[in-house]
Amino acid sequence: MDLLEEKEMQKERVAAEPRVAQAAANQIGRAVVAAEPAHDLWDDVRAQLDDVASRIGLDPGIHAILRQPERELTVAVPIMMDDGSIQVLTGYRVQHSSARGPCKGGIRYHLNVNLNEVRALAALMTWKCAVAGIPYGGAKGGIRCNPKTMSQTELCRLTRRFTAMILPILGPRRDIPAPDVNTDAQIMAWMADTACMLQDQATMEIVTGKPVALGGSLGRTEATGRGVAVTTRELLRHTGRTLDETTVAIQGFGNVGSAAATILNEMGCKVVAVSDVSGGWYDPRGLDVPALCRHIDAHPQHLLEECTVPDIEPISNEELLSSKVDVLIPAALEHQIHAGNADQLCAKAVIEAANGPTTPEADAILDERGILVVPDILANAGGVVVSYFEWAQDMQCFFWEEAKVNRQLERIMVGSFRKVWEVSEARDVPLRMAAYMLAVHDVAAAVQLRGIFP
Ligand code: NAD
Repeated sequence: MDLLEEKEMQKERVAAEPRVAQAAANQIGRAVVAAEPAHDLWDDVRAQLDDVASRIGLDPGIHAILRQPERELTVAVPIMMDDGSIQVLTGYRVQHSSARGPCKGGIRYHLNVNLNEVRALAALMTWKCAVAGIPYGGAKGGIRCNPKTMSQTELCRLTRRFTAMILPILGPRRDIPAPDVNTDAQIMAWMADTACMLQDQATMEIVTGKPVALGGSLGRTEATGRGVAVTTRELLRHTGRTLDETTVAIQGFGNVGSAAATILNEMGCKVVAVSDVSGGWYDPRGLDVPALCRHIDAHPQHLLEECTVPDIEPISNEELLSSKVDVLIPAALEHQIHAGNADQLCAKAVIEAANGPTTPEADAILDERGILVVPDILANAGGVVVSYFEWAQDMQCFFWEEAKVNRQLERIMVGSFRKVWEVSEARDVPLRMAAYMLAVHDVAAAVQLRGIFP
């Protein structure tokens, strides 16, 4: 670890103290708060699998297969900084399962990225693709770095070198990356171009979430947020509530959070609180969501800080999480809802737009308190569903209109929600357990049908 990275990690550790988290995050500007740093998402994901395995009587051999990622690659990525110095950053690509199809999953650039986090996120992708019924397995990748302190030219060089180093295990029929935290369509364009140059062929379908001009799909950028909004609407419908009587708070105002806010606002919900790493904003009459989106578009780091929308009050992240709303949408990072704050939540339902935002202890507390939790592997599947549409369009070189993308996304999200809801009712289990039961059953069936090679 170089000195710069050490310094950033130090800031991260300071920010991780729950009580001082918001203040510290504000002080250091760009650092991101992990409320329970000791919690290991990979342990949680495996414990969840173990629990499901015993409930559905999973074959012990198949259980053992699904407890491990199929393949892991760790790379030391050298990058020439703009000032001529060299840094070496650690990158990962983990493929959890290819039983149901090529592996699929995002690339994250963040200082918290580590092998166990990537393993956990890869496994979540396996379950998510199975719940949505799309023909993929799960993967994830990332680089341990702070992209907010890097220039565009540094990010470009980093992305190209990382892509070259993980390329041996990528491919449109092997493993297809996509954007995740701090990565976007431009980074996907650099990844696709690097693969095309090194392989001397046009294989833009090696990544999804690309710009539309390079074979990206219309509707992909807002697909995860749209899926979150559709899921929220379905939950309200199943619990006898209407959109226009519903208030919403959203933690995280990046790609997913801002799109979810925009679409829920259009659907008639009142979005009363939003936050990002720079702090939060609240207006009980309903925030002016389009104005907030214009603010982050104009901000050099796409943050809500120094927001000048009239009449809104600043709030801390903890205040946002405990605000009196009908629906709370965590759309930032993992472990934001934990044993230390689950008692303070006032929402009637939590829609997990982020991956792994609720620790298992918090999940049990919310269940006890009768707060419905729509799990990440269902609620945020919209992104991978439209990535699947993008891949299918690229393979056929035949592109759809946006209305068709949104219609097909809606169909899959509504169908997946209904399936999970029905299992939850029939088996009298929380929605998370129901989603896992469906997913693990389908992945196990694929492993069983294929048999063990050779
Ligand atoms: P992003 O980088 O665009 O946005 C992340 C947002 O969270 C930013 O606004 C950031 O400031 C904010 N944030 C970070 N830490 C915070 C904290 N402690 N408190 C408040 N805000 C905080 O990332 P994204 O693509 O929107 O991803 C958000 C989450 O959704 C991640 O968990 C990601 O894995 C998940 N997800 C993303 C996609 C996708 O298509 N991008 C798909 C499925 C799931």
